[in-house]
Amino acid sequence: MKQSKLFTKTRREAPKDEVSKNAQLLIRAGYIHKEMAGVYSYLPLGLRTLNKIVGVIREEMDAIGGQEVHLAALQSKSKWDATKRWSDKEVDVWFKTKMKSGDELGLGFTHEEPLTDLMRGQISSYRDLPLSVYQFQTKFRNETRAKSGIMRTREFLMKDLYSFNVDEKAHAEFYEKAKQAYVKIFGRLGIGDQTYVTNASGGSFSKFSHEFQTVCDAGEDVIYIAEDGRAINKEVLNDEVLEDLKLKRTDLKEAKAAEVGNIFTLGTRFSEALGLNFKDEAGKSRPVFMGSYGIGPGRVMGTIVELTADDKGIVWPESVAPFAVHLVALFDEEGKVKKVADELYEKLTSKGVEVLYDDRQCSAGEKFGDADLIGIPKRYVVSEKTLKSSDAGSLGGGSVEVKDRVTGKVDMVPVGSF
Ligand code: ATP
Ligand code: MG
Repeated sequence: MKQSKLFTKTRREAPKDEVSKNAQLLIRAGYIHKEMAGVYSYLPLGLRTLNKIVGVIREEMDAIGGQEVHLAALQSKSKWDATKRWSDKEVDVWFKTKMKSGDELGLGFTHEEPLTDLMRGQISSYRDLPLSVYQFQTKFRNETRAKSGIMRTREFLMKDLYSFNVDEKAHAEFYEKAKQAYVKIFGRLGIGDQTYVTNASGGSFSKFSHEFQTVCDAGEDVIYIAEDGRAINKEVLNDEVLEDLKLKRTDLKEAKAAEVGNIFTLGTRFSEALGLNFKDEAGKSRPVFMGSYGIGPGRVMGTIVELTADDKGIVWPESVAPFAVHLVALFDEEGKVKKVADELYEKLTSKGVEVLYDDRQCSAGEKFGDADLIGIPKRYVVSEKTLKSSDAGSLGGGSVEVKDRVTGKVDMVPVGSF
């Protein structure tokens, strides 16, 4: 993509009311737009990055057999009455509205109810199981606090997968597979080293659920980490749990963390309430055993910014960067640099390399400042100076300066070798 065509502009200042580092940088670099507190729109660069995250998650969900769907965001009251989750006393994050008829509607904050209900028409026998279904969907939550930029918003994309199994044993096998898939996802997204699988509160069906908590100052949770890498959420830390896990409080390190994902055993809570049953091999009717598995791609994106940004701007891991290469051309009067840079751009893109080409007519300072802010991992600089350089055996054809955004390491690479 040519930067001269990109409609977003970088900004020196973030909005005054924006307190979080992730949103400040993402707004300044043109990734997102703030609509109002806790509500953001994704612009071309932001959408590319979000879609990279979504792509990684999708591959790993497909790999464990997940089937992708897209459920409705608008929810009618009846299904949620069945599970006693319609009342604002039970669920305090609902956004509700009404149809012209006066019937009440809610904007989905999660999707256990509609999917369990939908599955009544699909699952009838043990032969229909196991099954796992997922989606990337906008959730609406009337969050009280929205001070963490895109890490906690009132409208956000969620990957939610739901599993359906015959019993707890079959469920446990899938649960473990999903856990491993999550480990892979966060590894591929570049935050594996900082992300811990924590024991968290489990609801009525299991002692614990598991959360994927990324250690990060901007996180809203507190976790305790053992030397062997096991970790516990603050809200479940007590003597009994410590004994259970054979851990000593004094051996645990406290850290702030952001919950980037979680996996949860639902058991038969939803299937019983909504009548999702199947006939087992003996012909006996039994409720389906369920689990749910969430990840917030926006929260992941914000967490990455919080963790990797430096004083100049964003620093993306390769797997989520909106482009692999930022080609920065410092044009000369005769147009020689432009000719080489144009050719290099064509060549790289024809090879499938994703390139953002800074072909704007502006100063070198502005171009470098913007490139630092935008945070693409590799920067290729073509200028009069690099074209004169005969480093790296360029045989007079000139070089391209290749700079790594993370390490700052610079290499001179012959123009002809791309
Ligand atoms: P939290 O405790 O942070 O409010 P939650 O327990 O409500 O999270 P879930 O309902 O399990 O979260 O949602 C699954 C995932 O969706 C979370 O792990 C997180 O990554 C993401 N998520 C949840 N709430 C938000 C939000 N308000 N904004 C952005 N992402 C969110
Ligand atoms: Mg919540």
